[in-house]
Amino acid sequence: MTHATDQASREIWFLTGSQHLYGDETLKQVAENSRRIVAGIDGSGALPVKIVCKPILTGPDEIRDVCLAANAAPECAGVVTWMHTFSPAKMWIAGLTRLQKPLAHLHTQFNSELPWGEIDMDFMNLNQSAHGDREYGFIAARLRLKRKIVVGHWQDPDVLQDLAQWANSALAMAESRSLKIARFGGMNMREVAVTGGDRVEAQIQLGWSVNGYGVGDLAGRVNEVSDAAVDRQVEEYEESYVVSAPLRRGGEKRENLRYAARQELGMRAFLDEGGFAAFTTTFEDLHGLKQLPGFACQRLMAQGYGFGAEGDWKTAALVRLGKVMTGRRSGGVSFMEDYTYHLVKGQERILGAHMLEVCPSIADAKPALEVHPLGIGGKADPPRLVFTARPGPAVNATLVDMGGRMRLIVAELDVVTPEHAMPKLPTARAVWIPRPDFKRGAQGWLEAGGAHHAAFCQGVTYEEWEDFGAMAGLEVIRLGADLDLRALRNELRWNDAAFKLGL
Ligand code: MN
Repeated sequence: MTHATDQASREIWFLTGSQHLYGDETLKQVAENSRRIVAGIDGSGALPVKIVCKPILTGPDEIRDVCLAANAAPECAGVVTWMHTFSPAKMWIAGLTRLQKPLAHLHTQFNSELPWGEIDMDFMNLNQSAHGDREYGFIAARLRLKRKIVVGHWQDPDVLQDLAQWANSALAMAESRSLKIARFGGMNMREVAVTGGDRVEAQIQLGWSVNGYGVGDLAGRVNEVSDAAVDRQVEEYEESYVVSAPLRRGGEKRENLRYAARQELGMRAFLDEGGFAAFTTTFEDLHGLKQLPGFACQRLMAQGYGFGAEGDWKTAALVRLGKVMTGRRSGGVSFMEDYTYHLVKGQERILGAHMLEVCPSIADAKPALEVHPLGIGGKADPPRLVFTARPGPAVNATLVDMGGRMRLIVAELDVVTPEHAMPKLPTARAVWIPRPDFKRGAQGWLEAGGAHHAAFCQGVTYEEWEDFGAMAGLEVIRLGADLDLRALRNELRWNDAAFKLGL
């Protein structure tokens, strides 16, 4: 998909603070050390994006100018700052108050070992980030800046991982700022509350442009797809999936598969022409379409598009951002719905699925391509991919509009292999246990007002969603292994006050 190449052109800028007090020789050494640090971080391959060393900064005008340049540079996804020496922080006010890109503060030092036998005042003056970063940390705190602080030596794999996680979030933020979401059929499912929300506020805060399009327009694009393109698409399906008998060549539902291929190609053409990286559908409006485009949604999600069912544009956006955050790492991202429970005491499980639209990027084996009648919608039997999600840790991210602000809720969970086969369930599924356990995890989700839809992410961590939320100014609620329901209730209450005060 075209949007994937946009990520490759992005970069992170590395800014080193100092001042003129120490003389040219020291400043030359500062510049050289910075260059080596950035080359080391870049060469480690730990970051999902290129990191670029900018000339060292010794005065307020330079600092302001580089911050303005970062804002104006479409390729700059974020800025890492570090004070090699002391850098009087009033110099940073003009720049930092104007900076609109995600900010990280790398609190590191060029040398890892203190040269006990050799240390003198020259060494002290050159290597004083313990001192300079505190001065800088104060002004960042005084300005109430949302920033990520990463502490430790720049060659430490843990430090590189923290920086990489922040960079994943910064890439998602860059994507968010230009994200276009198409709603086919426009509206939410009738009377559903949580999938609604303030689209104008979402665009102000997150950059999402959310617009509705008539299903008739989409149907027109679907009908324009050539038979030859459909032939090629169906061949790809045959190579990728275990195709069930009615969908094979000569099978009684073969035409339904061909029509699904037509839907995928028509939707994709519509999305790419309009620059949409996420979309929603609604089964209540299929005007001009012969069947529900569930398989097409599965396929498009696997190609990197965000998707939300029933007009759910917020979850569609989160699915797309989850895919950007995952980058080249393993682990899939899917639209997901908490569907039904296994409530036997001590063995509680959540069965997540959707009518059709679960992304095969989360599958634990080659998916089966099947066709079954659909109870709702009153259309032709739609093909769909059926599979079970890979076991392992994952998170569910959901965004709810609380009236006046958006709340991002991220729940940590453990996906398990189902203990029993489900041969009659004609949809993809995931079975998981929320942390810290079913009872508290489900209660926390309800207390926080989490939706019945989520972006289910196998490769993205809670911290990455938290950093993204901070960059966007969202309220972020974590439901994890240390969940304390009383503390959560207080946090929700205090957040209400804090957001009303604009803190
Ligand atoms: Mn749903």
